[in-house]
Amino acid sequence: MNIILIAPPAGGKGTQSELICSKYNIKHISTGDLLRKEVENGNTELKNIMDAGMLVSDEIIFDLIRKCISSEDSKNGYLLDGFPRNIEQAKKYDEILEELNIDIGKVILLDIDPELAAKRIAGRRSCMNCGSTYNIYFDNMKPTEEGICNNCNTALTARDDDNEETYKTRYNTYLEKTQPLIDYYKEKNVLYTVDANGTVDETFNKIEDIVRGD
Ligand SMILES: [Zn+2]
Repeated sequence: MNIILIAPPAGGKGTQSELICSKYNIKHISTGDLLRKEVENGNTELKNIMDAGMLVSDEIIFDLIRKCISSEDSKNGYLLDGFPRNIEQAKKYDEILEELNIDIGKVILLDIDPELAAKRIAGRRSCMNCGSTYNIYFDNMKPTEEGICNNCNTALTARDDDNEETYKTRYNTYLEKTQPLIDYYKEKNVLYTVDANGTVDETFNKIEDIVRGD
């Protein structure tokens, strides 16, 4: 089973990726990891590009993806996390699949209400002392005493970039780039949309139904 997982920021993509890959024993592929591994393996040309903060070309990314999905440990299937990012990449990816005779599998879109996602982000509070995390917008995640860690009584802190405004900007950027991709996969009849507004388990159950083909 091959899966492409698409989700907005704070849509739970990381958590669900892990759950899917461990449950179905498929390979987790993110372009970030592929690039890091390639540098670790001694690709100095790529290291220089990344160290200079330059954009890695699509060609390099496609080569890494091609190598990865045709390797032995992807035989049982794989999950693409964060790729393709746009419709151009999606079309090129289709060519690679055709060339390698690999099935595209299923494209799973985690759909989340942006207001809720903004709260998940903006309500985050953490304890710098013991690492406990809270969310002031959700009753089951609030600290017992406002602004104070339940475990160690330290004052809780919020990250500067965790506010609703910045979230909305990120969400709108995501939507602008991703909507054409979503439409593209919808037309190909491989898109499955999952309501990801519930708990981690609820969302994962819905994903399992799709993977099993119910
Ligand atoms: Zn604490």
